[in-house]
Amino acid sequence: MEKKIHTVALIAHDNKKSEIVEWAKLNKEVLKNHRLCGTGTTARLVREAAGLNVEGFLSGPLGGDQQIGAHVAEGKIDVVVFFWDPLSSQPHDPDVKALLRIAVVYDVPIATNKATADYILKSSLF
Ligand code: PGA
Repeated sequence: MEKKIHTVALIAHDNKKSEIVEWAKLNKEVLKNHRLCGTGTTARLVREAAGLNVEGFLSGPLGGDQQIGAHVAEGKIDVVVFFWDPLSSQPHDPDVKALLRIAVVYDVPIATNKATADYILKSSLF
């Protein structure tokens, strides 16, 4: 069976950036076969550290979460990996909530921690 190419959005808050970079490096062989995008800083860090091709949107606090949310609503994103930080307050908290909400509205899988991201990547649906 031919494998579908998915579009995967990557977002991590500052305290979670090293975690998403490590996760991307660990899963590079799988991720390189898909289309990757992400909020500005996360996309750049994953590009530089993992050598993956990641299209960058604006930085999260400057509207990047909203851009990704719009793409989710338009059916352009299949999976969101969003390592948000539950221990710090974010200036763009309404955008964070909006992204979590719109992913649920459109039934798009959204991994908010590494364990869930691992399950999605290993799923036969992926
Ligand atoms: P960043 O945005 O990748 O540009 O830092 C992430 C966020 O804080 O939502």
